[in-house]
This record gives sequence, structure tokens and C-alpha cells, in this order.
Amino acid sequence: MRLRITRFLRGLVVGFAVLTAGFVPVAMADAPSMARKQAPGYYRFMHGEFEVTVLFDGAFDVDSKLLLNATQPELRQLLAQNDIDGTVTKTAVNAWLINTGKNLVLVDGGCGALFGPKMGKLMENLKASGYTPEQVDTILLTHMHGDHIGGLVDATGKILFPNATVYANQAENDFWLSDKNAAAAKTDMLKNGFKMAQSSSAPYRDAKKWKTFRHKDEVLPGILAISIPGHTPGHTMYRLKSGELRLFIFGDVVHNYAVQFARPEVAIEFDVDPKQAVITRYKLFDYANKYQWLVAGAHLPYPGIGYIRSKGDGSYAWIPIQLLPE
Ligand SMILES: [Zn+2]
Repeated sequence: MRLRITRFLRGLVVGFAVLTAGFVPVAMADAPSMARKQAPGYYRFMHGEFEVTVLFDGAFDVDSKLLLNATQPELRQLLAQNDIDGTVTKTAVNAWLINTGKNLVLVDGGCGALFGPKMGKLMENLKASGYTPEQVDTILLTHMHGDHIGGLVDATGKILFPNATVYANQAENDFWLSDKNAAAAKTDMLKNGFKMAQSSSAPYRDAKKWKTFRHKDEVLPGILAISIPGHTPGHTMYRLKSGELRLFIFGDVVHNYAVQFARPEVAIEFDVDPKQAVITRYKLFDYANKYQWLVAGAHLPYPGIGYIRSKGDGSYAWIPIQLLPE
């Protein structure tokens, strides 16, 4: 009996020791001071032979007042379904650095100094990703809006990619670089658009480092330019082909992920031709769903790579890829 009690007591002591092991008080050091700075914004993956690095440039506010073809209550409901309070959607600006093995290609240049300190992070993220601006030899533009071309120059208008030649769609070039079109611009938004496109491209044009391409030109081996007009006259999608793999970088086909997958007919005031932008969006969503395209969007939540699936009722869903180790 005594033996049993002793065993029981011993068991209690061991059990108590196990239970309290996690609670033994130790001297706690203060945590290191907080970084209070965002981590670098780049995401890298291999696409066959291409190394693709998505570069985060920042995020701006897009108010639902800028959206067309839906009522404000309808828009607020769609935003609420995506946990967005109020009318403002934080909208990423993504660009892409592509190492083809032969060329280092930047697709779009971000905002640069045009839209304040919350934007224009592309350059620091490009450097953080292990490259330098001097190594970029080719810049491909999806279009010539300020958030895609502004980062090609610094605040004083100086070239930031000294060894790069810039390529724009001929239709894009002809629209934005026409003084006649600029003079005819009616809204401040459009007037500013012309100013930004002209000033950001000027030093490259002056240096004879500005070239144009046409629909279906293969701008570099494996990189095909496809005109997808509407948002702008020469809005361009780039198809990266490596073996059986395809990646479609489709620029500004979507500005608001919370609204335009559910309601592709919703356009935005930034569209030069909203009607054509809607036609183009439907067509691309249809192809992307049918052929299971991997797509990359400039204004999809960073890093903005994924698939588009039809829900069968005229609406679509965005299926972002998971971030994976490579
Ligand atoms: Zn844009």
C-alpha cells in the first residue's frame, strides 16, 4: 500500500514538472525595434526558359465613382462582398522584369515620381531583386499611361534605364505623341495623360532609343505583342511562350478585381474608349477561361498572377496562384 502511494506521489511530481515546464519564468529581453518599413516587393518564378520577376510599384486608391456602367449601390455591394468598406479600392501597380537568358526586359516602368511617395517603388524593388537598371536592355510598354511609363525617368526627366531601348505599339505612339490629339483633349485627366506620356518618353525619343511595333510582331524571341485596344488605342498584351507554356501579360484589362470579374461590363474613366475596353475584356476573359491562360495584370492584387474562370452566368472569378518556392 505504501509503495503504491509513493508511486502515485512520484507520478504527481513528474506530471506537475511536465505541466509547468513551459511556464518557467525566464528573463525576457525586449523585442528588437520594429522595421517600420515594407519588405521588398518582388516575386520571382520560372516560366519555362524565362525568369519572370514581378515588381511592385505601389498602390493607389481607385474610387468607385470612377467606374462606369453600374450604379453606386451595386458597386458598393460588390466591394462589400470583397471586404472593402466604403468606395475606395487599394489598387496595386505591378510591372515585370523578364530575363530571357539573352535579354533583360522590363515590361512597364511604374509611376516614377508622377504620383507621390506611395508610388514609384519599382526601382528599389528591381535593385532588391538583384538586378540594376543599367542591365535592362529592353523596355516593353503595355501602354503609355503615367503609371506605366512615368518610372522610365526621374523627377527631373532624366533617363533611368541608360542602356535600354523602349518599345511601344505604333497605335499607342501615334495617339499619345500627337500634338493635335493633345490639344483636343477635353478632360483634365486626358490632358495630364498626354503630358505624362510625352514627357516620360521624350528623352528616349531624343536619344533615338524609342521604337514601335505592330500587332502580332514578335518583339523578342518568344515574346509576341498582341493589340488589345480599348483602354488605350494601342494597349498591348505580351505573350511569353516557352515550350508548351504561355503567360499573357495583359496590362490594364482589369482595374478593379472586386468589381470587373463579377461584372466585366464595368469600365473606368481612364479608358480612352470604354465601349471597346468592355468588348476586349469579355473576349480576353473568354479566351483565358477556355484555354486556361496564365495571366498577369498590372492592377490585380500583387503579384497579380493567376487564372480566370467562368462562373457560367456571364461573371468570372479570379484564381490567384499561390506564392511558391522556386
Ligand atoms: Zn494602369
